[in-house]
Amino acid sequence: MEFYSLNKNAPNVSFAEAVVKGLAPDRGLYFPEKITPLPASFFENITSMDNIEIAYTAIKQFVGDEIPEADLKSILTDVLSFDFPVVKITENIGTLELFHGPTMAFKDIGARFMARCLEYFNKDSDEHVTVLVATSGDTGGAVARGFLGVKGVDVVILYPNGKVSDIQERQLTTLGKNIKALRVNGVFDDCQDMVKSAFLDEDITSKRALTSANSINVARWLPQLFYFLFAYKETKKLGKDLVFSVPSGNFGNICAGIVAHKLGMPVKHFVASVNVNDTVVNYLETGKYEPKASIATISNAMDVGNPSNFIRIQQLFENNFDDLKKDFSSFSFNDSETRTAMQEINSESGYIADPHGAVGYLGLKKYHLKNNEYGIFLETAHPVKFLDVVEETLNTKVVIPEQIKEVLDKEKVFTAISKYEELKNYLLTDSNYKN
Ligand SMILES: *Cc1c(COP(=O)(O)O)cnc(C)c1O
Repeated sequence: MEFYSLNKNAPNVSFAEAVVKGLAPDRGLYFPEKITPLPASFFENITSMDNIEIAYTAIKQFVGDEIPEADLKSILTDVLSFDFPVVKITENIGTLELFHGPTMAFKDIGARFMARCLEYFNKDSDEHVTVLVATSGDTGGAVARGFLGVKGVDVVILYPNGKVSDIQERQLTTLGKNIKALRVNGVFDDCQDMVKSAFLDEDITSKRALTSANSINVARWLPQLFYFLFAYKETKKLGKDLVFSVPSGNFGNICAGIVAHKLGMPVKHFVASVNVNDTVVNYLETGKYEPKASIATISNAMDVGNPSNFIRIQQLFENNFDDLKKDFSSFSFNDSETRTAMQEINSESGYIADPHGAVGYLGLKKYHLKNNEYGIFLETAHPVKFLDVVEETLNTKVVIPEQIKEVLDKEKVFTAISKYEELKNYLLTDSNYKN
């Protein structure tokens, strides 16, 4: 499969090139040339297929023959080695738990898939690739874990000082080896801007092969469509129309869900649930896309003022505003509404939702499910990732899972930076790359 740049000013590339490059040379995001719907029989028979078969069938057209079937299936077996349950909240609402991976965030799936693809494409080469990534919280940890010890790959993670939780910070600063953390004095958008500048800086790109592990990278973005299919499989027996509510920041996750829909998966509606970072909500109201500086909230992984994947969503609807509005809504909620929702979910069902999941739940409430509809909100992180907020809001103690205990008393190791020049120097200094 070929991928083209959405800025339409760069050559088409193969899947492998799109993964290795991350962003196209014209700063555009890569997008598949064609999305061919899967046969209706796939969706009819999905309940008799296992997750690996489902994932393989769905991703095959994007990878093409660049990874042979046996290797791709073994990558998928490795990546999808945990559960994706839909847990009942009320009669017509369930939550798709995406936090059973090693860092307890949904980003484990994309990060692990990308790491293994890069490892595969790099297997016969002695060249090093530097994965440069900006994180608003969970990307850093998932990428750090996914790439830890992967041959030929160095990882440099930028995160905003004081804007990620303690556990998130530990997950990305304590691994060592090929994983380096840079703590940026600024907000997430500053981190993302620095990363984008580095990709365009020839002083750096002439010396290091850089790639991105944000959801702008197709290997991070596309595998996220798998669990929408798993949720469809699990809830098919209900015989209801599905409405997905996805807590959204950079809009990569929901965009992958829309790709699953393009592949033929029946979905009634998509709700992009956001915190007060409401650029897309305003766009749907006014038709004007006006990015803003991000505002800090308790659902910090969604503190994004200029969601990088929204352009892909527009492309999936062929830039037709009315078509987009038919299938897609976006609602915004503030921190106090989010806390109230966490309490409501807990008293209704005993379920402990994290702030991001609670925003997703609010989106379903605001959408107003009809009788024949079943709403699924994605629980994008385990509540322990946002321990302080969850414990104080619900006045309860969260049991700390083993995966998290491992990092709790390890020492944080990072380099503090404030300006782009410091990132540049860091990347150009060979001694920073010694493991
Ligand atoms: C990254 C993240 C999101 C937002 O996902 P996008 O794909 O950027 O929209 C939501 N919740 C959590 C917990 C996250 O880590």
